[in-house]
Amino acid sequence: MNQVYDRVALIGLGLIASSMFWAIKRAGLAGEVTGYARSPETRDTARRIGLCDRICDSAAEAAEGADLVVLCVPVGAMGKVAQEIGPVLKPGATVSDVGSVKRHVIESVSPHIPEGVHFVPAHPLAGTEHSGPESGFAELYDNRWCLLVPAEGSDPQAVANLRALWEGMGANVEEMDADHHDLVLAVTSHAPHLIAYTMVGVADDLRRVTDSEVIKYSAAGFRDFTRIAASDPTMWRDVFLTNKDATLEILGRFTEELFALQRAIRTGDGEQLFDYFTRTRAIRRGIIEAGQDTDAPDFGRGKTAQ
Ligand code: NAP
Repeated sequence: MNQVYDRVALIGLGLIASSMFWAIKRAGLAGEVTGYARSPETRDTARRIGLCDRICDSAAEAAEGADLVVLCVPVGAMGKVAQEIGPVLKPGATVSDVGSVKRHVIESVSPHIPEGVHFVPAHPLAGTEHSGPESGFAELYDNRWCLLVPAEGSDPQAVANLRALWEGMGANVEEMDADHHDLVLAVTSHAPHLIAYTMVGVADDLRRVTDSEVIKYSAAGFRDFTRIAASDPTMWRDVFLTNKDATLEILGRFTEELFALQRAIRTGDGEQLFDYFTRTRAIRRGIIEAGQDTDAPDFGRGKTAQ
C-alpha cells in the first residue's frame, strides 16, 4: 500500500480528474476519493461508472475533511470553485489544481485559501482530445511530466506529498516558476493548438470550394492538426484568455518565421528551406529519444497524450 493521503477530493470530473481517479486507485494512493462536477448529468455518469468512491452534490461537501483537494475545472472557473470550498477546508489540508496556465490560477485561487491551508499548483503535461468523465484512463500520466509550481516558502511536506501522489500516478515530477511555466507552455502547447485550430479552419473554408476532398484525401499532416483542433473549446478558450502575453509573444515570433519561409518559397531559396527542415527534424528525434512520443506512423492514435 502506497497511500499518500487519507482523503482526496476531485472537483470537476473530466478527462484529467477521471484519469487521476483511476491512477490513484491503480496504485492505492488514497484511502477515499470524493468527487464533484457541476452538472447532474456528469455526477450521474460518474456514479454509473464507479468514478470516485463517493460523488457529492456540492463542491464544499466533496472538499470538506479532505487532505488534498484538486481543482480539475477549466482555468477560468478555478477562482469561483476555490471561493466555494475555501470556508470548509480542513486546517493543514493542501489545495492543488491541474490548470494549463499557472499565473492566472495562482492569482484567482490564492485569495480564497485560508490561513493554515497549503496551495501547491500543478500541471500534468498529458491529455487527449477527448473530454468528460468517461474519457479518463489510469495510464494517462505514465512517463509524462507533471510540473509543480509551489510559491516561495511553501510547506515542504505539502509539496513532497503532492510529488509522491503524481509519481505514484506514473508521472515524472519537476518544479517550475509560474511565469516560466506559462512561457514554456505557450511554445510547446498553447501556440501549436492555435495554429492547429487555424489550419483546420482554413481547410474548412476550402472544403466549401472543393466539396469533401479535404476530408476524403486528408493526409497525415492535416489529420494530426484535426486531432489537436478537436480539443475541448471551453478549456482552450480559457487558456488563451489567461495566458495572453506569453501566447501573443510566441505567435509574434511564429509569424516572423512564417514570413521568412514564405519569402524563401517565393524566391526559390531551397537551401534555406532544406536547412530549416533539417533543424526541425532533429527536434522531433529529440522528443522520441526522450521517450515523450513514439515514431509509429499512427496518426489516429486514440489515447495519445498531447
Ligand atoms: P473536461 O474533460 O472538459 O472536464 C471539465 C470539468 O470541469 C467537467 O467536470 C465540467 O463539469 C467542469 N466545468 C466546466 N466548466 C465549469 C465551470 N464554469 N464551473 C465549474 N465546473 C466546470 O476538462 P479536462 O480536460 O479534464 O480539463 C480540466 C483542467 O485540466 C483544465 O483546467 C485544463 O486546462 C487542464 N488540463 C487539461 C489537459 C487536456 O489535455 N485535456 C491537460 C492538462 C491540463 P460538467 O461535466 O458538469 O460540465
